[in-house]
Amino acid sequence: MATPLLAVERLSKSFSGFHALQDVSLEVAERSIVGLVGPNGCGKSTLFNCVSGFLPFDSGQVRFRGEQIGGMAPHRIARLGLVRTFQNGHATKRMTVLENMLMAAAGQTGELPLQALLRRAAIRTQQTAQLGRAREILETLKLTRVANEYAGNLSGGQQKLLALGRAVMCDADLIMLDEPAAGVNPTLVREFVSMVRDLRDRSAKTFLIIEHDMKFISGACDHVFVLSAGRNLSSGTPAQMQRDPRVLEVYLGK
Ligand code: ADP
Ligand code: MG
Repeated sequence: MATPLLAVERLSKSFSGFHALQDVSLEVAERSIVGLVGPNGCGKSTLFNCVSGFLPFDSGQVRFRGEQIGGMAPHRIARLGLVRTFQNGHATKRMTVLENMLMAAAGQTGELPLQALLRRAAIRTQQTAQLGRAREILETLKLTRVANEYAGNLSGGQQKLLALGRAVMCDADLIMLDEPAAGVNPTLVREFVSMVRDLRDRSAKTFLIIEHDMKFISGACDHVFVLSAGRNLSSGTPAQMQRDPRVLEVYLGK
């Protein structure tokens, strides 16, 4: 089998004695769309933080294209081609949608607002080169109409689309999305799913997506990993997961 783009092996992370993650393993094949699901507090965002370098972990391994990335700083990991969005957005509200897109452009994680503001002058000089790409992505995401609005004025759903757009602007191969559809209306969720699949098909992107919305998961994902209380519970296709008794129990049994 080909080396997976991302391989997490027996990763563990405690917060002052509380085991948030215990021996969690998962693999993401290149050009796949993989879902990560599980009840609130089961460790999904913590796993994203550990994999993307935002949190140190206690034991286990993280490999990206076969290379050990555990312990690397987030910007180094981003430069290797792995970027993530945060559960609560992080777009710079007092910059326009287009400026936010340009800020996220190649070689930058685009996720630390203060650093990003300091870089604003430098970013202006790169603008011309990136402008075409930014406009193209905004078009795909149906955000052209609001390109010159302040990001802070966007609807919740549009903010989510902007987060996806900024991740795509980073030129990453693996895009990790933390609850991209939370608070987004069902019509937009369907569009969001088709945009993600489009990006995979046409731009060879790979996705790892945390999402509660089972419609999103079954519509978008090729494979799903289910966590429960910080451990691997099950994995398989979305259809398999929806009839897996262990999965049904953690979702419906409470
Ligand atoms: P999920 O994203 O699956 O809802 P999280 O990964 O955010 O869950 O959290 C998993 C568990 O770890 C929760 O019990 C949460 O309270 C705890 N946790 C997360 N981050 C921290 C932190 N920085 N310090 C202490 N506990 C944390
Ligand atoms: Mg979370």
